[in-house]
Amino acid sequence: MTGIDDLPVRDELRGKTPYGAPQLDVPVRLNTNENPYSLPEPLVERIAERVREAARDLNRYPDRDAVELRTELAKYLTRTGKHQVGIENVWAANGSNEIIQQLLQTFGGPGRAAIGFEPSYSMHALIARGTGTGWISGPRNEDFTIDLAAAAKAIAENRPDVVFITTPNNPTGNAVPRETVLALYEAAQAAKPSMVIVDEAYIEFSHGDSLLPLIEGRPNLVVSRTMSKAFGAAGLRLGYLAAHPAVVDAVQLVRLPYHLSAVAQATALAALEHTDTLLKYVEQLKAERDRLVAELRAIGCEVTESDANFVQFGRFADAHTAWQKILDRGVLVRDNGVPGWLRVSAGTPAENDAFLDAVRELKKEQS
Ligand code: PMP
Repeated sequence: MTGIDDLPVRDELRGKTPYGAPQLDVPVRLNTNENPYSLPEPLVERIAERVREAARDLNRYPDRDAVELRTELAKYLTRTGKHQVGIENVWAANGSNEIIQQLLQTFGGPGRAAIGFEPSYSMHALIARGTGTGWISGPRNEDFTIDLAAAAKAIAENRPDVVFITTPNNPTGNAVPRETVLALYEAAQAAKPSMVIVDEAYIEFSHGDSLLPLIEGRPNLVVSRTMSKAFGAAGLRLGYLAAHPAVVDAVQLVRLPYHLSAVAQATALAALEHTDTLLKYVEQLKAERDRLVAELRAIGCEVTESDANFVQFGRFADAHTAWQKILDRGVLVRDNGVPGWLRVSAGTPAENDAFLDAVRELKKEQS
């Protein structure tokens, strides 16, 4: 049978595996940091209405510049981010993964390199590979914080073209202090200068504020965001960025024409009309996240401080066996390959209880 390696694929893709968080049909799925609540009925109705309107015009290509959507995203950012932004500062795409891909196509590519401080979001390295960008794995402390001196040294030595800072970080959950981001931005400018991408996919769940105001006067800093988490709309595939208008102009050089379907634009606009309702779920999930942290500690687990809608917990002599045992009890969590640690997304109170029961049993078995 013909396999991948029999095809003339690019050398750097040979022997590699695709991104693959398991999508298993089990009672409790807490493995991909989704919002556990389905969309409220009035929003479902509004989506149907807006999509019906859009459907009439599906014979035409969608608005290539997504003007209405970017205007509404700019309003959302201005309202929640403590910084005034306009449509010229905002760009949207199919998930923040596509935002990151467009940024790497624009600022990375063959002969260029990107750095991330690992463990962090694994797709940064995978999208780098897909775009022919070299990847540098930067350091983190034992407690998963960023060691500023070590990180700045890695930037100075490697002179990357793109620097990823994920805050709150995935899979560890901790936020990066504003001063660290500022210092790394300065280090990146002194070394190259390079683009700094602040990945704020989980910022709405944070105890602290968005770093959006940092785009002012820093044209090489991009804040990347998504509707997959706080808006509870992972299935929609809508990510966006905020940056200097020149960055928005630059990504147009690589974006596919009409990349955002009219159906996606209509759906996202309907969701943005319901922002306040959706953000109420964020408050509930933050409370459940804090409960998970407290209860896991009470059970005797180590837990990394979390500013996200998930919690990293351990330590296990063999994290993969622990993952399997939790799965055997009907609860799917995530093994990100961080030795000794697993990650659980905050679910509904009942889902979290089922998860905590599974860990309690596992701990009992191991003691
Ligand atoms: N950034 C981070 C840190 C993430 O964890 C994720 C999703 N797990 C994304 C970006 C991508 O999200 P999406 O493409 O759904 O916007």
